[in-house]
Amino acid sequence: MTDGAAGWGRPGPALTELNRTYWTSGAEGLFRLQRCPECERLIHPPALRCQRDHASPEWATLSGRGVVESWTVNRHPFYPGFPDPYVIAFVNPIEDVRTRVLTNLVNIDPDDIAPGMPVRVRFESDDENVVFFPLFAPDDR
Ligand SMILES: [Zn+2]
Repeated sequence: MTDGAAGWGRPGPALTELNRTYWTSGAEGLFRLQRCPECERLIHPPALRCQRDHASPEWATLSGRGVVESWTVNRHPFYPGFPDPYVIAFVNPIEDVRTRVLTNLVNIDPDDIAPGMPVRVRFESDDENVVFFPLFAPDDR
């Protein structure tokens, strides 16, 4: 789905029944991930079953706060209209820091990023206001 992002250039996901809640909850300003009702782990990317106990995950609304686990700075222009450099990162939601969310860090100088740094979700929508990309910026609170 790159045609809808013509003005911006960020390649978007193919929405499915399984991932739609993750990619569209930002329209309501909400950050949602799946949670297992049995072991209470967060599950990401969205899955039909918990890998540990095969329970059916439920969607949970989270605080949107997390910590940076790891990151890399991309300096290669893979997509026209999507300027480099940009930061690709794994962020761990504070509700379950074992969970990894692959995302971009924004509003930060790459030299200022540190492991464990607190971050907070912010959303950027595609041109149609359908997909709301969960991105993370430094959490000043
Ligand atoms: Zn489970």
